[in-house]
Amino acid sequence: MAKQKTAIRNIGIIAHIDAGKTTTTERVLFYTHKSHRMGEVDEGTATMDWMTQEQNRGITIVSAATTCYWRKTKINIIDTPGHVDFTAEVERSLRVLDGAVGIFCAVGGVEPQSETVWHQADRYRVPCIAYINKMDRVGADFFAVVNEIREKLTANPLPVSIPIGKDSSYEGNIDLINMKELHWDIDDEGSEIRISDIRDDLQPLANEWHDKLLDALSAFSEEITDLYLESREIPTELIISTIRKATIARELLPVLVGSSLKNKGVQPVLDAILAYLPSPEELKPIIALHAKKNNPITINREEMEQCSALVFKIQHDREMGTLCYLRVYSGSIKTGSVLISVNAAKKERINRLLRMHANNHEQISEIKAGEIGVAIGLKFARTGETLASEGFPIILEMMNFPEPVISVAIEPKTMGDQDKLRNALANLHKEDPTFDVRENDETGQLIISGMGELHLDVVVTRILEEYKVDANVGKPQVSYRESITSAETHTEFYHRALAGKEHAASVTLKVEPQRRGEGNLFVSEISPTVLPASYQEAVRRGIIGSFSSGIVMGYPAVDIKVSLIKAEFQETTASEIAFEISSSLGFDNACRKAGPILLEPLMQVDIMCPSEQVGDVISNLSQRGGHVESMESRPAYELVKAKAPLIKMFGYSTALRSLTQGRGTFSMEFSHFMERSNSN
Ligand code: GDP
Ligand code: MG
Repeated sequence: MAKQKTAIRNIGIIAHIDAGKTTTTERVLFYTHKSHRMGEVDEGTATMDWMTQEQNRGITIVSAATTCYWRKTKINIIDTPGHVDFTAEVERSLRVLDGAVGIFCAVGGVEPQSETVWHQADRYRVPCIAYINKMDRVGADFFAVVNEIREKLTANPLPVSIPIGKDSSYEGNIDLINMKELHWDIDDEGSEIRISDIRDDLQPLANEWHDKLLDALSAFSEEITDLYLESREIPTELIISTIRKATIARELLPVLVGSSLKNKGVQPVLDAILAYLPSPEELKPIIALHAKKNNPITINREEMEQCSALVFKIQHDREMGTLCYLRVYSGSIKTGSVLISVNAAKKERINRLLRMHANNHEQISEIKAGEIGVAIGLKFARTGETLASEGFPIILEMMNFPEPVISVAIEPKTMGDQDKLRNALANLHKEDPTFDVRENDETGQLIISGMGELHLDVVVTRILEEYKVDANVGKPQVSYRESITSAETHTEFYHRALAGKEHAASVTLKVEPQRRGEGNLFVSEISPTVLPASYQEAVRRGIIGSFSSGIVMGYPAVDIKVSLIKAEFQETTASEIAFEISSSLGFDNACRKAGPILLEPLMQVDIMCPSEQVGDVISNLSQRGGHVESMESRPAYELVKAKAPLIKMFGYSTALRSLTQGRGTFSMEFSHFMERSNSN
């Protein structure tokens, strides 16, 4: 008999801050830990105490991926950051998971930030289920939130359970598939579920929603339609398999309900993860890029021998060193084997592999395709990079990171702090490649750039607190860009004696503005028979280097096309260095003649504010140079979508809080660069 494989679910939790992600995850780990342990060793109260202990110490889940077991299925819970400032991280975690649970607050409903993350989940076609939490709160309204999900997320929500009562009288759920009442005991932290027949006075409501469920499902199954029309009984397995198929196709969003804080409704969410979300084998093969040939290549998760794995998170642990969280897409990673860090083109030896659990970790010898685990001590791999078998140089992630548009200067106080700072930045950069570090040529200060105030704040706080660097930190500054407004042609002749040898080269460059957002481009119109490849390469280096050092103000240059249209040299004096320098000087001089301009980042700002204050919020926004693009009314709230220059949006969270007595929320993301307005 073939050895049975453990079923796997790789899932993430998507939630707006405060919706109850931590509380729910803790309950999940408690119940799964308990059921897993109870099957093996009976530790009695020790297991029971675990959650309370963790809670008392205020520990939440710090691991980027935690493994637990539910009904013999291995569930890997992958952490997804909730804030839009960390979009790249959200996107990366969405890539490595196969399904997600969206948690919504039964009072707050769908908030703007959940909308953003939800749309990202849409982009990556991640199958989802929804859990409406906090049914015990005053103002909880399950059906209103279901409607909001339908309208705001343009999803097709399908309640598979409905609440019995609400706020302080929230009792339990009606399971619409098995048509039973579910109740949880307070005494055992909700570990046992009491299943009973639906009482008479709830029958009409239960029947109404059961019918709605079957009606919705008949769109996906002829078998259900036929049975339904003939008023015959529809087998539970058929209902479940139909929901499963439609959920994986993202045509349905099963909705569950509960109150994690009151220990009600959590186990059905685990059951739904097993029942409706896909296992890694069920997914389509993914497309990667061959690093050398640059062509797309299909990764067959199951059949391929060669290993490919994506590093989705790096954490530094004081005791264990660098923890590298991996998702294996094909083949497997074994301890003792050698892989390549494809982006760095370096070999990595796999010394130790771990599986992370809620309160411990386990040494393992292999991570197979579809699985998630941790490798210790990799030297080169960074977040977002690919590890693969030797001779199989493929790249799994080809994502565009958002532009780092805001920066801060940091100055260590002593030489010792300087070393600590470099070490901190090297480590942090491996964890989060979305911030940039560069040195200001004139002042020698280190400049850190990130995607938003909060993002920079997190990086700087970690440098100061976690790495204990004593440093002066400047005020956040906007990162501008430079570009040009007209086309210009310029010839640069470089001639210099260096170390007793003559170096000379002449290049003629044409610079032209590209459309906004199109990026920079360098093309050589000279054939390699006229200008040898090594000199062509030197010209390219000179130009690419100039793009990042800017034109007049030293900000990176964007949206410029540079063409090399003529090159002159003599065999005796020509050199790579002469071509590189003449190109770099030529670029500067050409661009200075081509109407250089300063560009500033414009942000997409989504504000959710109480209707009474929408007037104040909008007039404040226009004082900041913002333009409202659309407004949508929600019950008691308005969603204002606007664009505003980043420079005017510093400290906006404080301003919005005082304008709305703390009730307004907003999200802000880089939109594009635009010519700086004179009012700044
Ligand atoms: P997160 O930000 O999504 O991780 O949310 P938390 O789990 O930290 O919860 C935010 C707050 O909501 C905390 O004060 C929780 O105690 C509370 N909370 C979480 N779940 C529930 C619930 O089911 N009912 C009520 N009343 N409060 C809850
Ligand atoms: Mg939390």
